[in-house]
This record gives sequence, C-alpha cells and structure tokens, in this order.
Amino acid sequence: MQQKLFIDGQWHFPVQGGVFPVVNPATEEVIHQAPAGTAADIDLAVSAARRAFDTGPWPRMSGRERAGYLRAMAERITQRKEELARLEVLDNGKPLPEAIWDIEDTAGCFSFYANLAEELDERPEEAVALADARFTSKVLREPVGVAGAIIPWNYPLLMASWKVAPALAAGCTMILKPSELTPLTALELGVIAEEVGLPAGVLNIVTGLGGDAGQPLSEHSGVDKLAFTGSVPTGAKIMAAAARDIKNVSLELGGKSPFLVFADSDIEKAVEWIMFGIFWNQGQVCSATSRILVEETLYPALMQRLIQEAAKIRIGDGLDEATLLGPLVSSGQYQKIIAMIEQAREHGATVAYGGKRPEQHQIGYFLEPTILTDMAEDSIIWREEVFGPVVCVKTFRDEADAIRMANDSRFGLAAAVMSADEARCERVARALRAGIVWINCSQPTFTEAPWGGYKQSGIGRELGKWGLDNYLEVKQVTTFDQRERWGWYIK
Ligand code: NAD
Repeated sequence: MQQKLFIDGQWHFPVQGGVFPVVNPATEEVIHQAPAGTAADIDLAVSAARRAFDTGPWPRMSGRERAGYLRAMAERITQRKEELARLEVLDNGKPLPEAIWDIEDTAGCFSFYANLAEELDERPEEAVALADARFTSKVLREPVGVAGAIIPWNYPLLMASWKVAPALAAGCTMILKPSELTPLTALELGVIAEEVGLPAGVLNIVTGLGGDAGQPLSEHSGVDKLAFTGSVPTGAKIMAAAARDIKNVSLELGGKSPFLVFADSDIEKAVEWIMFGIFWNQGQVCSATSRILVEETLYPALMQRLIQEAAKIRIGDGLDEATLLGPLVSSGQYQKIIAMIEQAREHGATVAYGGKRPEQHQIGYFLEPTILTDMAEDSIIWREEVFGPVVCVKTFRDEADAIRMANDSRFGLAAAVMSADEARCERVARALRAGIVWINCSQPTFTEAPWGGYKQSGIGRELGKWGLDNYLEVKQVTTFDQRERWGWYIK
C-alpha cells in the first residue's frame, strides 16, 4: 500500500507530512495510514500538470500514441485484476466478484478511450458549411487543458477511470483526488502510470480529505476543468469554486431513481431486477433504483416474493466467497442510514424487512437488506438519497399516476420500467425525466453509452463519445478568400 503521493511522475511524502487512517469496513480495523495531501501538494500537482500540458509532449502527440499508453494501462490493470479487486474489497467492503467486475470495467474503460483517442486522428477536423462562399470554415477539437477530478468511494478505481481515461485520451493532463474513504487503488493507478512510462505530470494523484485537498483543487486557478462525482452539497461547492475562474465543470451527483413495475410483469424477473437495483454494491450506487412503484394489483404478491428473496441474501465480509451483501463503506454512512430508517419509522413508514444490524455481525458496518413501505410521498425517506441497501415501495393506480410519482423528485439520474407491453415501456421511457432509463432491467452500465443526470443529478455526460467531449474544446477556424476584398472601410 502506497504511502506517498504521485506528482510529476515521482512519489512524494505530503508536504505537511500528514496521514489519515484507512479502515476495513468489514472488520473496523485500520489497515493503512494514507498520505494526507493539502493545498501545498495540490499546488505542486497543478504546476506539474500545467507544465506537462503547456510544454510537454502529451497534448502534442498523436491520438494513436496516447492510445498506446492507455492500452498499456488497461493491460496492466488486467494483469493485476485479482490484487486490485482484493484491495478494493478491503477498502470499500464490496463482495469480491463485484470488485473483480469493477476492475474488468476499469480496464475496459481505458481500452475504450484508447480507441477514441485514435479516432481523433482519423477526424482531425470537420468542415462547416457557410452561407457566405468567400469564407471557408472548419472545426478542430483540442484538449481543454489541465483537468481536476474529484471522485467518490463507491466504485473507487472505476470512478477514477471514467475521468482519467477520457481526459488522457483527449490530450488533457490531470490531478486526481480520490475519496478519503477509499484511497488505495487510486494510488496504485500511479504505480501503473509509472510502469507504462506515462510522461511526467500527465497524471498526478493526491489523496487527502475533501476540505484539505479537494477544495484547494477546485479553487486552483491553474486548473481549466473540474470533473466531479459525489453528493449534491459538495457538487454545489465545486460549482461555486469553479465560478470564480469560469472553469469548465461537469458534475455527476446523487439520485433517488424510480423503478416502475406494471402488473403484467413477470414477477420473478421484477424481484430479481429490483434486488439488483438496490442491493448490488450495498445500494451505494448513484443510480440505485431506491423507489419502487408497483401497480396496485401486483403489490401483495410482489412484496411477498421480494421479502422472501431479500431474506436469503448472504451478508458477510466481501472476501468470503458466499457473500452477496458486504458492509457499508464507513461508520459515518452506517450511522446516517440507521438514523434515516429510524426517522422513517417515526414518520409512519413500515419496515417490511430488515432495518437493523444482522445479529451474526456485531463488528463491521453491516446492515440488513431493508424494505420499507407505507411512507408518505413527501417523507424524507421517499425523497432523499439513502445510499445504502434500503428500498422504498409504493403503489400506483395507472400509468399517468406512475409517471407523475416517478418524476416528482429533484433528482433525475436514472429510472427503470418493467412491463410485458413494449409500447408502454417505450412511452413511459420517454415520459421519465432522467438521463438513463432502463427497460425490463435496472443498473447494467456500458462504457459505450452516455451516463449522467437531469435536474439536480448533474451537468454533462460521462462515458461513450460524450465522455470524451467533456475534455475537448471546440475551435472554429475560419478563412477569408485572399482574392476577395472586404470593402467595409476601404472601398
Ligand atoms: P462526497 O460529495 O461526500 O465526496 C465526493 C468527493 O468530494 C470526495 O473525494 C471528497 O473528499 C470530496 N470533497 C468533499 N468536500 C469537498 C469540498 N468542499 N471541495 C472539494 N472536494 C470535496 O460524496 P461521497 O459520499 O464520496 O459519494 C457519495 C455520493 O456520490 C452520492 O450522493 C452518490 O449519489 C454520488 N455518486 C454519483 C455518481 C454519478 O455518476 N452520478 C456516481 C457515484 C456516486
């Protein structure tokens, strides 16, 4: 486990020499003291990234050359898959098969953006047709510059790759600030960058607390672009910090995503996807479908099957092969979620299943899969993100009622709909105000498809070609025909 920060291609102890503890959420043991970067380290990292961008080879080399580095990183991540996945489990708590999937997706993300870096060479410019034939115009795509990435703890290395891979593919240089709850694999990305010979300063990794390292990064005038994934309150702070220098900002924030289940759905498939939508990764998923809307007539049978299946979920340490639900990431998250369930109960919600620490796990931040019903539409538990394995179930009368309830949220990240009627699924998908809509499933995420939210769930899109656009400027180059005269002042 790394004890230094990765800045300008080298490993440094933090300027102030601080550390912060990294806790295994399954055992509550401190497993590492990670380097605590502060404003002084951010200064060094931004200077390095600035130099690498302004005078270094990275933005000036071909997309094909950059693709070579990205592919080498993907290869190295794949070679170290098992080890990185285990580190992710120790740090975050998620079950090992989920962590392995994350690492495979991380490598896939680097490979995908390697291909897109090459495509930049194939389409170096785009002609723009103008109404005035004396002019010709074209558009060039150029890297935005120095990018700061601030990421959360729920998919530590995967969230890093969603920003690092497209930024590097575009020719940007970057400073990555991982979550203080899960810094371990991000630092390994520095080791990988070093191994593949990434030019110095192209990728800098500064671990540290949000206020100590994230805030100075968001406020730094040497940064051209900020890419943030995390909570809405922090997103608002990032945007305010960026406003001072008019930095380009993209935000991927929270959600309270609805899942509409119509009565003609296959009940077994509905239960399976509801569970995948809220219990996968302990429900610590920004797009988790945490509000289930079930057509009235299906409700009793669906609840019965959902409770039966939730009761079978094996809870335990993520390294235990049989585990399907690991601990929550931290004591803070555990306390917050227990308090939210308690408050929901006090305000009239029924705990249909779970809601407490499993008896066999007195140590670790374990919480039973939790199913709540009978909450009011204006209750906190129905409206606010829990970010845990806690699902709220309500009924709807008809399609219009379902759409109204689904859209009645300040969030708009994702939504899901299930019905045997394909035309209805299409109609509902269009009516839902969300950046991602799943039909007959919930959560599968593909590197090729755009990811991001409506409303307070964010600004901009990651993944796919949209993810690359985040890190590219659009430059218009317009030429006047030398044989022509303009004739405004001089006739
Ligand atoms: P968070 O906002 O607490 O922290 C996110 C990051 O911001 C961390 O690295 C943290 O250190 C940093 N930070 C904290 N205060 C800061 C400040 N003042 N200035 C700059 N940086 C600061 O969020 P979290 O608890 O790590 O993550 C959970 C949240 O992330 C949830 O709301 C979830 O929905 C969201 N999320 C969204 C997506 C998406 O794609 N939309 C994906 C994953 C998580």
